[in-house]
Amino acid sequence: MSAAHIIGLVASGQATSRAELARLLGWAPSTVSAHVQELLDAGLLLESGEGRSRGGRRPRLLSVPAGEGVMLAADLGGHHARLAALDGTGRPQKVRDLEMDVSAGPEPVLDQIMDALEELGDGRPVLGVGIGLPGPVDLDGVMVGPSRMPGWHGYSVRERMSRRFQTPLVVENDANLMAMGETVARGPDLRDFVFVKAGTGVGAAVVSDGRLHRGARGFAGDITHNRVPAGGDRPCSCGNFGCLETIASGAALVAAVNGDGVDVKSTADLVRLARDRHPTVTTNVRFAGRQLGEVLTTIVNFLNPQAVVLSGALAGCDLFVAAARGVLYERCLPPTTQDLEIAESVAGPDAGLLGIGRLILDQGVALASS
Ligand SMILES: [Zn+2]
Repeated sequence: MSAAHIIGLVASGQATSRAELARLLGWAPSTVSAHVQELLDAGLLLESGEGRSRGGRRPRLLSVPAGEGVMLAADLGGHHARLAALDGTGRPQKVRDLEMDVSAGPEPVLDQIMDALEELGDGRPVLGVGIGLPGPVDLDGVMVGPSRMPGWHGYSVRERMSRRFQTPLVVENDANLMAMGETVARGPDLRDFVFVKAGTGVGAAVVSDGRLHRGARGFAGDITHNRVPAGGDRPCSCGNFGCLETIASGAALVAAVNGDGVDVKSTADLVRLARDRHPTVTTNVRFAGRQLGEVLTTIVNFLNPQAVVLSGALAGCDLFVAAARGVLYERCLPPTTQDLEIAESVAGPDAGLLGIGRLILDQGVALASS
């Protein structure tokens, strides 16, 4: 526990007052005040204005001075990347979208990304660098068995990036980053939840007591290769049969409705037709949503989260979400679903970037040393 930890909690929006720090750290108010006063004196924290009262005197608001340093963040998809320079509190200052193709292999892609990040940094001091990748990443920043990413399996993204940037580094799966971005967007009251990214593929992440749960090797939250009853003998990219991905991913849905004679090219096309209540698409989307619900039922019963947050193109499809929700309410134990919130993500397109900022701040190094 250190000054860096306090600064990280304030900068990431988890704590906005001395009282919240005391609650999160489990410290006596006098201990928190002593530490906060030292940081105020050192100019590493600011205290001003008035926050929301929870009865009694209104608390003064803590914040972190913006400073001139930046964090550099890149969130990679299959064919595009969203890049940003973040300020010292992890908020995007300058955002840029970049066309690229992950199937070109790790070295050309990472070189292109790192060049673009340096450009965004504009010569300012770099407090930390983070990258989100659309596939499984282990705790050492090595990609393991990503689908549709030839040449990336076993490649150490962290090692490559550390040659260019000698700063705190975040190398993480995209769903994990989006989940952490959600904690930034929603604030400290959202602490225990399951995050699902339902787009072309299906990814998920677990946040427990405000922290990312990575598991022993970093692969926690992978739900896409759970077998579902309706999966039958459909072959999956992992080599197994009947995985959730073969039914409830955007890619599988596009293939399924094409098979039923409806011409759609992308998940976005599919969602548009579902909104227009195209009968064939509606049937397929509902079916897929129910299969996702089946898998989530086990997870919700087991983890007892406060919320299931849905993101990705399919989360914008009311039929898909309603089908998943229906199964959850029907099949979960009543005490688990009584207060369960099933909601669409509010973090928007910068979710992954916000997550990178939050995780760099959690490393606690950047601001305390600046
Ligand atoms: Zn599979």
